[in-house]
Amino acid sequence: MSESAAETKLTANNQQLSAEEKIWQLLEEVSDPEVPVLSILDLGIVRGVAIEGEQITVTITPTYSGCPAMSAIATDIRLRLLAEGYNQVVIKNRLSPAWTTDWMSAAGRQKLAAYGIAPPVDGTAAGHVLNLFGKETAVRCPLCQSAHTHLVSQFGSTACKALYQCDDCREPFDYFKCHA
Ligand SMILES: [Zn+2]
Repeated sequence: MSESAAETKLTANNQQLSAEEKIWQLLEEVSDPEVPVLSILDLGIVRGVAIEGEQITVTITPTYSGCPAMSAIATDIRLRLLAEGYNQVVIKNRLSPAWTTDWMSAAGRQKLAAYGIAPPVDGTAAGHVLNLFGKETAVRCPLCQSAHTHLVSQFGSTACKALYQCDDCREPFDYFKCHA
């Protein structure tokens, strides 16, 4: 390969990288319709971005099948990318491995707590949710940080949340459990 050809290839690689980074930045601006303080990157559902010519493929793993928020998220991704002139967007669903709340970013957990929703307890991913409900004190009150809380209802303001109440400050709060 001649020197100039190598340079051309390098430049092409750099452009490819920055185009991909730009897509990731735009995805950071797409929020979870159920919890608008969270981006879809905070949720950890974006598995990959691929650029082939004019076509952008975004692969996402649904938080759980049948979650009505997922079709809204796919539409929001398309609209956000379309607004930047990307009109050939393919959204792929990857069902396996299944999304678990363990994929949520640390920043996402902090944003949830600041929003007044108890973030998912670490290591209580899909399959362990019943164990979690057997150990209700594992969920901390997002208002006073007390571990003395109890489950009021498995269904909070949406199907993805459970309703808890704090035994110390008496405040009811949502617990994010979208992994059923
Ligand atoms: Zn409390």
